[in-house]
Amino acid sequence: MQQHYEVAVLGLGAMGAATLYQLAKAGVKAVGIDRYAPPHTQGSSHGDTRITRLSNGEGPQYLPLVQRSHQLWRELEALSGEPLFEQCGVLVMTSSPRYDPWDADDFTHRTIALAQAYGIDHEVLDASAIRQRFAQFAPVLDSAIGYFEPEGGYLRPERCIAVQLQQAAQHGATLRVNETVTALENVGAAVRISTDQGTILADKVIIAAGMWSAGLLGAPFDSLLRVCRQVLYWFEIEDPGVFAAHSPSFILTHGPGFTDVSYGFPPLPGEGSMKMATEQYHQACDPAALDRTVDDNQVQAMYRTQVLDKIDGLRPAVTKSSVCTYTVTPDYHFIVDEHPRLRNVTVVSACSGHGFKHSAALGEALAQRCVQGASDIDLSAFSLQRFAN
Ligand SMILES: Cc1cc2nc3c(=O)[nH]c(=O)nc-3n(C[C@H](O)[C@H](O)[C@H](O)COP(=O)(O)OP(=O)(O)OC[C@H]3O[C@@H](n4cnc5c(N)ncnc54)[C@H](O)[C@@H]3O)c2cc1C
Repeated sequence: MQQHYEVAVLGLGAMGAATLYQLAKAGVKAVGIDRYAPPHTQGSSHGDTRITRLSNGEGPQYLPLVQRSHQLWRELEALSGEPLFEQCGVLVMTSSPRYDPWDADDFTHRTIALAQAYGIDHEVLDASAIRQRFAQFAPVLDSAIGYFEPEGGYLRPERCIAVQLQQAAQHGATLRVNETVTALENVGAAVRISTDQGTILADKVIIAAGMWSAGLLGAPFDSLLRVCRQVLYWFEIEDPGVFAAHSPSFILTHGPGFTDVSYGFPPLPGEGSMKMATEQYHQACDPAALDRTVDDNQVQAMYRTQVLDKIDGLRPAVTKSSVCTYTVTPDYHFIVDEHPRLRNVTVVSACSGHGFKHSAALGEALAQRCVQGASDIDLSAFSLQRFAN
């Protein structure tokens, strides 16, 4: 006999783990299915750390999600005893030869404006204050501007996923790992889910398949979503003294282009390295053919373009590197909506490379939609409708 669940969550990375946990906590008969055994290194949620910040220069629609997520991470820490959220502060900076103090599009300016509009605790720093407080950023230009948010910091993504899946199982959710979903179809009022190991039925389905979403969802997602390869680098620390004082997570804009930005984290205790990355959106890739190798040429290019003369205290060598992906929409915002052709199927997971910090609250909101028909947090900004034309 086919197993039948109230809700099936397909994909158990950041979004799926949070959703399954919240469903199970609400007493829903739920199953979660993943092609690997999360947390794993094959999708978009690995690499030790993810920045979280209340003021999202990406837009005010994200503020309720990140605020609620900060509460949920603390609740999960209390339940599990695992440290998940390190509140080391976030420093967002622009230090660019083309800096325009009146540019309203500048990411640091947008972050400051949003913090001011919504009463988020922060400080605005000039170049000398940045250099004095954070020696690793001594090379910033005299025109540099910084935004420091004490409530921000970083999350431990693998632990967040593991804890939520453990909690989901404790609340009675069924976890099916190393099982790949191959197709979905409506059968009467239910959804039939075919996998490489059989079929199951569910009244409702949440699809959180990350970079594999387009293949599973078909049109219009296959023409909307692009998968962009990203590389994470852990640069060796040359001068630990530079990082001796309080080190925040950071985002540094140093020019007008998409790749003229880097972000990074404080050195983790005992690791002797600092994790950094930049972003690329110009080249899309096929998830099935993702190049997961990082050679020394890439390491040296990253050092030359993002570290040299910008950040002090690092050597042009890495202790490790890792490849990860962004699933990007045309306007770089999220898609969280019903599937236009499959009834009772909701799609989340196209988060354009900035979703982790919001994932706990998104999971709660999606569970509320299943249980009570609507979520406390308004998700209408993430609807598919905006791409209709
Ligand atoms: C390098 C990098 C840096 C980032 N930095 C930040 C940051 O600092 N702050 C921030 O907020 N966000 C950041 N993000 C974005 C954030 O990490 C992602 O938005 C988020 O982790 C994506 O979660 P997800 O659940 O959508 O995808 P994933 O975690 O990849 O989960 C998708 C899951 O679906 C499973 N799956 C896929 N297809 C199937 C199938 N057919 N059957 C069964 N299972 C399937 C996969 O195995 C996987 O476990 C970053 C992302 C990257 C790549």
